[in-house]
Amino acid sequence: MDIDDIQENLRTFARERNWERYHNPKNLAMALSVEASELLEIFQWLSPAESDSVVQSERGRIEVEDELADIGIYLLRLADVLGVELETAIENKIEKNATKYPPGDATPRSVRGK
Ligand SMILES: [Mg+2]
Repeated sequence: MDIDDIQENLRTFARERNWERYHNPKNLAMALSVEASELLEIFQWLSPAESDSVVQSERGRIEVEDELADIGIYLLRLADVLGVELETAIENKIEKNATKYPPGDATPRSVRGK
C-alpha cells in the first residue's frame, strides 16, 4: 500500500463516520502532537540503553508500532487535508538538510555550541 492508497483509505474512513468536519488542520496537527507524546511516554524515564530494548518484548514492540502508526495516520491525513504532496515535501526537506548539514560536520549545533 503506498501513500496515496493509505490517504484514500483514511479519507473513506473519516467520511464513513462523518468525521471530516473534525479533520481540519488545527485538529489534525493537535492530534499528531498528542500521538507523538504517546510515543514519548513509552520511552519516558528510560535510560538510552533501556529505550533500545523496548521493542525486544512483544508488548513493547506492539505499543511502539501502534503509536508510530497513529503518528503516520495523522501525518498523512493532515498532509491530505492541506493538499501537501508529502513525498515531495520530504524530498525537498532532505535536500535542504543536506545543504544545512554537510557531510563531516556531524556534531549537532546544540552540542557544539552556537
Ligand atoms: Mg496513540
